[in-house]
Amino acid sequence: MTTVESLRVPAAQEAGTVRVSLVIPVMDEEESVTVLHEQLTAVLDSLDVPSEIIYVDDGSRDGTLDRLTDIFRADSRVHVLALRRNFGKTAALVAGFTEARGDTVITLDGDLQDDPAEIPRFLAALEDGYDLVSGWKRVRHDPASKTMPSRLFNATVRHFTGIPLHDFNCGFKAYRREVLDDVKLYGELHRFIPVLAFRRGYRIGELEVTHHPRRFGRSKFGAARLFKGLLDFLKVLFLTRYMQRPLQLFGMLGLLLSAAGALGFLYLFVLKVLGQSIFQSHGPLLFLSGILIVTGLQLFMLGLLGEMMRHYAYQPEEEYSVKRRLTHGEPE
Ligand code: UDP
Ligand code: MG
Repeated sequence: MTTVESLRVPAAQEAGTVRVSLVIPVMDEEESVTVLHEQLTAVLDSLDVPSEIIYVDDGSRDGTLDRLTDIFRADSRVHVLALRRNFGKTAALVAGFTEARGDTVITLDGDLQDDPAEIPRFLAALEDGYDLVSGWKRVRHDPASKTMPSRLFNATVRHFTGIPLHDFNCGFKAYRREVLDDVKLYGELHRFIPVLAFRRGYRIGELEVTHHPRRFGRSKFGAARLFKGLLDFLKVLFLTRYMQRPLQLFGMLGLLLSAAGALGFLYLFVLKVLGQSIFQSHGPLLFLSGILIVTGLQLFMLGLLGEMMRHYAYQPEEEYSVKRRLTHGEPE
């Protein structure tokens, strides 16, 4: 979606309206939420900025929703969204973002591993001009089965995107509202919000955060997430780089393969003209050349098909992202 930052005072800055929204996805965190809420309350009270806390219960099967309901009753800043089943962290975040009214949105995990005391530092970093500030669990208190794959994942994403973050998937992040309106999140894309935002032209910053070991419950993500994450990364690379121009990717690959096949045939043709029996002496090359040409043509057609879908799915506002718009004479 296009974002427009107009010069009038944003509605959210008027007295009493929410400036900062905290979005917290939780699934089976019954022991943590009450403690977390106490910590959050202390931090928000000290901040003196109009704020709200949105807990998204992502289909918990334990007493999380009951705890959240108690918290809701006792605190007018709190909203609770209970999803009908477990939809996954990305969906839970999207639900929270849709509910959030602040011009600044902060996400953190609900398992007490992220420290609410860091919130003021995130807000300060946004004041410094960043659009998205991502936490970095430099000293991380998780088992090696999580931290090792995570290092590999981060190194890969860093290498291919050129974004110098250490910890793409950190749940602790702060956003200017327009960033969230400008990225499409589905599947498990929450891991790639910085990549998606960067491609839309937003300024990304990083902040070292303290990380605590899990006190209650257990992690919802196993080692399999490395593979899922890397597959999703291919998807993200494709979406951010080539979806705008599929023929450039598929067409180029297709042409290369077909050209290699054509060269093979040319070579065989010359041999034939020179009187060799190519079936006997060069059978494999004959096969290979044929396969290369057919595969190449298929890829090329896939590129054309991609262009066709692109053409019909065209939406002008997705082609760019507006940072600021100065105009004359428009009614406010
Ligand atoms: N979470 C969620 N839905 C899910 C999985 C996790 O809302 O399907 C929440 C979870 O309750 C926690 C946060 O996402 O608040 C991070 O999950 P977890 O702590 O299990 O991840 P880890 O810290 O092990 O990477
Ligand atoms: Mg955790």
